[in-house]
Amino acid sequence: MIEQKFDVIVIGAGMSGNAAAYTMASNGLKVLQLERGEYPGSKNVQGAIMYANMLEKIIPDFRDDAPLERHLVEQRLWVMDDTSHTGIHYRSDDFNEAKPNRYTIIRAQFDKWFSRKVREAGATVLCETTVTELIRDASDRVVGVRTDRAGGAIYADVVVLAEGVCGLLGTRAGLREMPEPQTVALAVKEMHFLPEEVIEQRFGVKGDEGCVIEAVGTISRSMAGLGFLYTNKESISLGIGCLVSDFAAMAESPYVLLDALKSHPSIRPLIAGSEVKEYSAHLIPEGGYKAIPQLFGDGWVVVGDAAQLNNAIHREGSNLAMTSGRIAAEAIVEVKSRNGPMTKRNLARYKAMLDKSFVVKDLRKYKDMPALLHTNSCNYFTTYPRLISQAAQNFMRVDGMAKIEKEKATTAAFIMARSRWGLVSDAVRLALAWR
Ligand SMILES: Cc1cc2nc3c(=O)[nH]c(=O)nc-3n(C[C@H](O)[C@H](O)[C@H](O)COP(=O)(O)OP(=O)(O)OC[C@H]3O[C@@H](n4cnc5c(N)ncnc54)[C@H](O)[C@@H]3O)c2cc1C
Repeated sequence: MIEQKFDVIVIGAGMSGNAAAYTMASNGLKVLQLERGEYPGSKNVQGAIMYANMLEKIIPDFRDDAPLERHLVEQRLWVMDDTSHTGIHYRSDDFNEAKPNRYTIIRAQFDKWFSRKVREAGATVLCETTVTELIRDASDRVVGVRTDRAGGAIYADVVVLAEGVCGLLGTRAGLREMPEPQTVALAVKEMHFLPEEVIEQRFGVKGDEGCVIEAVGTISRSMAGLGFLYTNKESISLGIGCLVSDFAAMAESPYVLLDALKSHPSIRPLIAGSEVKEYSAHLIPEGGYKAIPQLFGDGWVVVGDAAQLNNAIHREGSNLAMTSGRIAAEAIVEVKSRNGPMTKRNLARYKAMLDKSFVVKDLRKYKDMPALLHTNSCNYFTTYPRLISQAAQNFMRVDGMAKIEKEKATTAAFIMARSRWGLVSDAVRLALAWR
């Protein structure tokens, strides 16, 4: 039977919860972490690219034993139409550094490893335990939790909500609103298994090198969305995601989109002959800066996806989760070290520290992007990809047509599709939202 009073209870053993629990346990706090999954990672879905810098700040020597797949040396960004893709590739041998910057991981293995570190740091980790309710005292302060296990309430000075994107506990307790369908994407993903040497040959990588492809265009059928393909050691993660509100409005199904992506002529040869062993679906918070809820209160803080901290423009989530978990933990350790109570006033330190980090700075920079991509998705995700593809083909096809005529035809096609004013307006709105 576990003891009933802790310094901190962390709800969830994903990236943010593990980062928070590890940081606090390593600083001597009595930490209880509760995870509803059979084991940490059993419920979690990610592409997955893991950003080393943010993990290094928590576990500097993580490379010694963390289950890492491939370190990334090449990134391809594709704009796709129905039969082709136009790409920007960046590959550099500089990424073959002693301490690589980005790795592909498989969350089920990675989260287990991270959780072992949390336990070694001294935290008590309890899986197959769903937190069902936050307990509040007469002054509305969160003082503990109730779980689906027998044994009643468990109390703590502060509760860290690291429960992921839906954040049901926090919303049920009235700490924040339920995320809106237009601020949440639904992503589906398959794991395609292939021999290591086949992956190396198809993607031009060797050893532990890896390559990722991220794609926008007609694959999302005019919805704001993204397709991705990430190379692991002996598998390829392939997936696609679009906003939940768009799926509903367009009556589209994510499975249909994934099937179409798999049979696209640019993707099909890359996964040919593979065996699909895993299929998963998960939500991603994509509302950006404007969707960030209240992050702290009397006796509680919220971190990671539950706090909607996800940078959809750069496809970053786990690093924001780890960083917000670490920063919340550091704020709690600081309050604890001066024997301060875990009041809203004292926990405001977490928000102040987070505001100074890349997490909030990045989300603030792109604060207008989610709305722009959503409202103009038909043009950005269908009209322009088609025009770009036609322009590229026109430019490359040698057919006796004079180059000047080709250029005129391309310009005319853009004006015909969007009008001069539309082109300028799309470009200006994108530039303003991006800056
Ligand atoms: C398809 C897909 C691809 C992605 N690709 C990338 C990528 O390549 N790179 C990247 O950086 N990010 C990526 N992300 C985003 C990234 O996965 C998330 O940002 C990150 O996992 C958030 O971590 P978290 O700890 O906040 O939440 P989660 O990882 O979701 O963890 C929440 C945990 O809380 C537990 N939990 C929930 N409720 C309760 C409860 N009541 N009681 C007990 N436990 C509970 C859950 O079981 C879970 O373990 C991707 C997401 C998806 C869906």
